[in-house]
Amino acid sequence: MLNGKSALVTGSTSGIGLGIAQALAAQGAHVMLNGFGDAQAAQDAVAAVATGGARVAYHGADMSRPAEIEAMVRACEAEFGGVDILVNNAGIQHVAPVEEFPAERWDAIIAINLSSVFHATRAALPGMKARGFGRILNVASVHGLVASAQKSAYVAAKHGVIGFTKSVALETATTPVTVNAICPGWVLTPLVQKQVDARAEQAGISQDEAKRQLLAEKQPSLQFTTPEELAALAVFLCSPAAANIRGAAINVDGGWVAQ
Ligand code: NAD
Repeated sequence: MLNGKSALVTGSTSGIGLGIAQALAAQGAHVMLNGFGDAQAAQDAVAAVATGGARVAYHGADMSRPAEIEAMVRACEAEFGGVDILVNNAGIQHVAPVEEFPAERWDAIIAINLSSVFHATRAALPGMKARGFGRILNVASVHGLVASAQKSAYVAAKHGVIGFTKSVALETATTPVTVNAICPGWVLTPLVQKQVDARAEQAGISQDEAKRQLLAEKQPSLQFTTPEELAALAVFLCSPAAANIRGAAINVDGGWVAQ
C-alpha cells in the first residue's frame, strides 16, 4: 500500500517507534530510523519485514538539537527523494513532584517530546506540499488529554503536542497533508518498564504485581496497548481512507480517558 513512499520515524530504535517503522516497511515504504541504543538491530528488524524494494536507513540526530533534526530531514530527502510520512515519536519520561523536578529534566522533556515535533514538521512540510502528499503522525499520549501526578513536564509536553497537531492540521486543511496525534495508554516498552521497576522496588512487590497495579490504576481493559496495535493505526492514517482525518487525537488506551 505504501510502495514508493518514504517515512521518517523518530525514536525508532525501540518500542512504539520501532513497531511503527516495521509496519510501514511491511507496507513497502522506505524507512529512515532514528534513536539511540542498538541502531543496527533496529535496522535489521525493519529490513526483515520490508517488502516491495523498500529500503532502510538510519540517522543518529539527537532530537533535542534543532540543527540535527533539520539535517536528518534533509538526509531523508536526499536518500529517498522526500519525507512523505513523518512520525514524530521520540520521547522520554521523568517522574517526580514538581518542586523536586530537576530543571534540566524539564528542559530535556520539552525539547525532545515537544519542540522536536515543531522542528521536524517545519523542516518536512514544504517538501510534502510540493510533492502533493503528506502524513504527519505525532505520537502524543493519553497524557496529552488528561494528567497524572508527578509527570508535569511530560503532561505539559504532550498537551502541547496535541495543540500543535490541531494548529498545523488547520494550516494544512486544504492540502494533501494530514496531521494527527496518536494517544497510547500504557504500552510495555523500556519507557514504561522503568516505571514498573520503580514501583516493584518501592513497594517490595513482584514485576507481575507491579504491572497489575499500574494497569488497574488507569487502564480499565487491564491490558497493555501493544506497539503492533499502534502501528496498525499508523498504517491506516497513512491510507487514502484517512485523507479527511485531520487534527484528531486518537486514543488507544483500554478506556483510560473514558473514565
Ligand atoms: P522507548 O524508550 O522504547 O523509545 C523511545 C525512543 O526514543 C528510543 O528509540 C530512544 O532512543 C529515542 N530517543 C530518546 N531520546 C532521544 C533523543 N534525544 N534523540 C533521538 N532519539 C531519542 O519508549 P516508547 O514507549 O516506545 O515511547 C515512544 C513514544 O511513545 C514517546 O513519545 C512516548 O512518550 C510515547 N508514549 C509511550 C507510552 C507507553 O506507555 N510506553 C504511552 C504513551 C505515549
